[in-house]
Amino acid sequence: MKADPAAQRRLLDLAEVDTELARVHHRRTTMPELAEITAAEAAVRARRDAGVAVRTQLDDLDREVTRQEKEIDAVRAREDRDRKLLQGGTLNAKQLTDLEHELHSLERRQSVLEDDLLELMERREAVALDAQHADVAREKAEQVLADATHRRDENLADIDTNDARRTAERAKILPTLPADLLAQYERRVGQGRIGAALLRARRCGACRLELDAREISRIREAAADDVLECEECGAIMVRTAESGL
Ligand SMILES: [Zn+2]
Repeated sequence: MKADPAAQRRLLDLAEVDTELARVHHRRTTMPELAEITAAEAAVRARRDAGVAVRTQLDDLDREVTRQEKEIDAVRAREDRDRKLLQGGTLNAKQLTDLEHELHSLERRQSVLEDDLLELMERREAVALDAQHADVAREKAEQVLADATHRRDENLADIDTNDARRTAERAKILPTLPADLLAQYERRVGQGRIGAALLRARRCGACRLELDAREISRIREAAADDVLECEECGAIMVRTAESGL
């Protein structure tokens, strides 16, 4: 293939833009903030779940406290009724004994219930503290996520700007290249390889291999508009004054 040496040199500009576009794409998909966000999202989920669990525990305890208080009130009401009956003086001896007996057992029951309630309140207090800690931990995790998301978005804005600029540069270069030269370049790029590189100081700029004497003499004998490919990696080797020929 033949192509104007100036067009071959413009291929180097295109290769530079493409290298930058590949770098931009790499950064877009591998920036550390992406992994940070995934980890932070998992942490937020775990903290929220823990918060829900501790709130459920707290609600259960609240219900238990209410139930316990009602039971204590009921026992007290019964004690009051028994005391009034005792003071009424209308009971016979057997009824009096039975009532005193019941009153004693009600008092014991009330004491047990009050001890239980106290224990319940202490547990509730501890769980309420756990709930506070869970809130703080969740807020912290949410802040970490928000920070990472903010940094990712800043990076993305920067990447988008860079991407748009390089894409515009690329669009400017393309029409200045002969179709067959561009096609050959694009074919190589499509295979994930370097399309074109400067031959510098007798080395292929793509694979960095130093060319042997036979290859150098082949290149020296080639016409300026011959399109040369590296025998090693297949990249188009563009010659300039820096080629060391
Ligand atoms: Zn090469």
